[in-house]
Amino acid sequence: TPSLYVVATPLGNLQDISARAQAVLAGVDVIAAEDTRHSQRLLDALGIATRLVALHEHNEQAAAGQVIRMLQAGQHVALISDAGTPAISDPGARAVARVREAGFPVVPVPGPCAAIAALSAAGFVDNGFHFVGFLPPKSAARRADIEALRALAVPLVFYESPHRIVECVADLAAVLEAEREIVIARELTKLFEQIVRVPLGEATAWLAEDPNRVRGEFVLVVSGAPAREGLDPQAERVLALLIAELP
Ligand code: SAM
Repeated sequence: TPSLYVVATPLGNLQDISARAQAVLAGVDVIAAEDTRHSQRLLDALGIATRLVALHEHNEQAAAGQVIRMLQAGQHVALISDAGTPAISDPGARAVARVREAGFPVVPVPGPCAAIAALSAAGFVDNGFHFVGFLPPKSAARRADIEALRALAVPLVFYESPHRIVECVADLAAVLEAEREIVIARELTKLFEQIVRVPLGEATAWLAEDPNRVRGEFVLVVSGAPAREGLDPQAERVLALLIAELP
């Protein structure tokens, strides 16, 4: 049956394309891509001649309709984004939902994902994590969002661009406890890949030490809420009441 294949593509290192991803991209009738010029270069490098159509955040509804018509016409379609896994802080989720509603299979072809790559090298031993993706561009909204995440006891995973990395890390340090640890993962799988783990309170100074440290694409992983010493506030109140009742 005609299907939509959701295909992960490399974050930077072309060798991270999977054998299955290559076979699917070569075998489908059409590839829906976030940026067709960008993806044409990937296809050229892989020697794949499949036709590309645009599916980005500004035309996703219309493009989803087009994908469904192609599936109805018996064509197989693949969906890719500029880098990593489609629909993860990238367009694709709406199209996937529409294709499911239309009754066609949606088949994931898993592979690179910046969040998972950073987590795998971060060394946080917790069970689980909370994926945030991009925080809001304006500082007030960003701080409010960080505040809302403050109580979570699992590592928090953020995406950030070079334009806002300094402000974003400053806001994380302003709102969250300085003793938390942050992993700054830059340019994953690329030539200048850099992954460091520092106390959150020292992260701004670390970034300022070398202009190269604020270049490229970033994943930030911040350790979860520090374990509280003693009892939680409610237990403290109950205990105080009980102690008051003692003879
Ligand atoms: N869907 C993609 C994925 O699965 O990773 C993420 C797309 S999102 C629009 C782009 C963001 O992902 C960047 O701003 C950065 O935060 C992160 N990212 C992508 N490639 C990266 C890389 N090579 N190194 C570090 N972060 C990267």
